[in-house]
Amino acid sequence: MLITHDTRCALDAVVDLVNTAPEGEATPDTLPDVPALAEFVHRHDISDVGVLSEFDLSAVRKIRGRFAGIFAASDPRIAAGLINELVAAAGTTPRLTDHDGYDWHVHYFAPGASVADHLAADCGMALAFFVVAGEQERLRRCEAPDCRRAFVDLSRNRSRRYCDSRTCGNRLHVAAYRARRKEAAG
Ligand SMILES: [Zn+2]
Ligand SMILES: [Zn+2]
Repeated sequence: MLITHDTRCALDAVVDLVNTAPEGEATPDTLPDVPALAEFVHRHDISDVGVLSEFDLSAVRKIRGRFAGIFAASDPRIAAGLINELVAAAGTTPRLTDHDGYDWHVHYFAPGASVADHLAADCGMALAFFVVAGEQERLRRCEAPDCRRAFVDLSRNRSRRYCDSRTCGNRLHVAAYRARRKEAAG
């Protein structure tokens, strides 16, 4: 499937957002306060969101939970239902733009949208394209037992099972190494 620059940016943002959520005792919420949200907005170059408030923080945390549900969806129908709800609530206004030297592409967030609505609209639509393309299963959560990080599998044969965190990547290599040794020994 064709993934445009903007879709790629939206995917990076939504994966990062979902993975800011706390995972049990071990990993704290990395979106604990308004400055952290401002950092997130800056990191992903999310434009036109104005001055951020506690209200924005709680709204973003709320949609974070909804995005997490989409990555956990077991089939396209469930994912589609969740995406529809999310995008409808954000009040989208699709419009063509070629800002900052990028080719023509569509922005979905409404002018003046809050950061939560901006993310719900544009990231929601980025995920919608995966359902449309029959590629919903590329929206995954890491299969390592103690890691449930979200990721988008962009590998050619949809074979990625682990997130790209250092631990899970290493675990994958170690497991492959052990399997090879076992094969060689057997
Ligand atoms: Zn754009
Ligand atoms: Zn992982």
